[in-house]
Parts: sequence; C-alpha cells; structure tokens
Amino acid sequence: MNMYYFAKDRKPDRIREALLQLIFPMGTYCVICGSLIDSHRRWSVCDNCMKALNKGNIYIDLAEEAASGNIMSHLDSASSCLVYGLHSKKLVFDLKYNKRTYLSRPISMIMADRIICDERLRPLVDTVDLVVPVPLHKSRLRKRGFNQSALISLDLTARLNALRDGRPVLNVPDCLLRQRLTVSQRSVSGSERNLNLENAFTINPKRKTLVSNAVILLVDDILTTGSTADHCAEALKDAGAAEVHFISLATGNYHLKGCERRRDDESFIDRGASSDRMPE
Ligand SMILES: [Zn+2]
Repeated sequence: MNMYYFAKDRKPDRIREALLQLIFPMGTYCVICGSLIDSHRRWSVCDNCMKALNKGNIYIDLAEEAASGNIMSHLDSASSCLVYGLHSKKLVFDLKYNKRTYLSRPISMIMADRIICDERLRPLVDTVDLVVPVPLHKSRLRKRGFNQSALISLDLTARLNALRDGRPVLNVPDCLLRQRLTVSQRSVSGSERNLNLENAFTINPKRKTLVSNAVILLVDDILTTGSTADHCAEALKDAGAAEVHFISLATGNYHLKGCERRRDDESFIDRGASSDRMPE
C-alpha cells in the first residue's frame, strides 16, 4: 500500500497510451520536437530543445509576493522548474489536449531533478508524507478523461519513493475536491481572483486523517497567479496539514524575480499549440 493508484483516471487512456508508446516511444524521439534521439538524453529531450528550455529554477519569494499584494500565505514554499515558453507549453499542451499521457513521466522527472538539485527543496525527499495534485472539477475531468496533475503526481511519488528508505510517500489524488467550476484565473483580475476561488476546494472527508499533521507536496502543471495553489493549501491547512509545499512544471512571468527572463527559442515550430494563452 505505498500509493493510491489512480486507476479511474488512467484506464480510459491505457490503450491509447500503449499505441502512442508504439508510435512515439520514450527515449527514441524528443518528447518536445519529435527529433530522433538516443536513449541517454535526459528527460527524453534533444540537445536543441534542452538548450531552448528556460530552466528558471524558480523559487518564489513568498514574503515579497505578499508585500506586492499577491498573497500566498498558506504555502510554505512554491517552486517551478521552467519559465513558461514555447517548449514547455508544447509539453503541457501535448499532455493535456493531445492526451499524450506518457508525458507525465518526463515531466515528473524534471520535477524530481529540480527537488534533488535545489538545496532548499532537497529536504522534501525525506520529509514529504503526501503528494497531492491540484484537482480538476468533475465536469472537466469527465471531458478530458484524466487530470494531468494527478498523472504527474503519481509518477513523481514513484520517483520520490525510489530516493528514500523506509516510510513511503503516499500519492493521494483524491485528497482535494474541486467543488465549483471556476473561470481561468488569468481572465479575472485582482480581488476577483480570490472571490473566483473562494470555497472552490475542500478536503475529501475520507482523506482527513491522512492530512492531519502531514507534510504535503502540492503538484500542478502550471503556476499562473498562485491563487489556486494558495486556496488548495488553505483547505489542506484547515484540515490540519503541517506544511504545504507547491511545485509546478512551469510558470509565467509573474514570479520570476532573480531568474533569467530570456525568451524561449522562437525558431521552434510550435505544432501543438496555437494560442498564447496559458492553458487551464
Ligand atoms: Zn527536441
């Protein structure tokens, strides 16, 4: 019993995933541009895409965010691996909209590397009790067929467990419930953001005892304003969580103090995504 398996979410895509694996096997093609690579490439990413990925290693200064009015007071830390650009967008779009669910593997690898390599995050390998994804509303889950953050959480949990001895990290995909279908945080501004998400998240009553006194790693694909993560953390803290640390694959330009603002390589042919909007 080292994790709650997300069978409900993974089942409908299993055949599709197996087929995609046949057509697009990991370690043979770059997961971003599709170029042929050898199996030793880190994250299954080719040299060109690796160079173009903006590895911002963002560690958000929560005190500074609070000072500028962006309250994320329920989080103990918030980090992101990449600056959101064409290449990271391609990964997220392919996972969410092109249903390339196997991309949760390289994404979780990018996150695990980030945790291991950053001395501020490294202690989490030993202290985290639960890995919890930001939930989707059930209507969106029905439409997409899976929660991309839950797939990433599942793989990330396995990676964390491979790094530690003894007490396992638990993956708890149904820990948080999204009660209301909210509009994109980017489409509302300022104080509306808080209203938009008020009471949007609750704890699953069945998971309350797990949350009590637990150190939790909250996982999402993208960090936009931080309000979603903070509201999730609030629900977890209200249920007695000791610490809530947040990690996402990528973030936009909101929280990049001290990190290089280089644009992602613009020569990249962005086949998967036509919009500049950050995806939900
Ligand atoms: Zn590539």
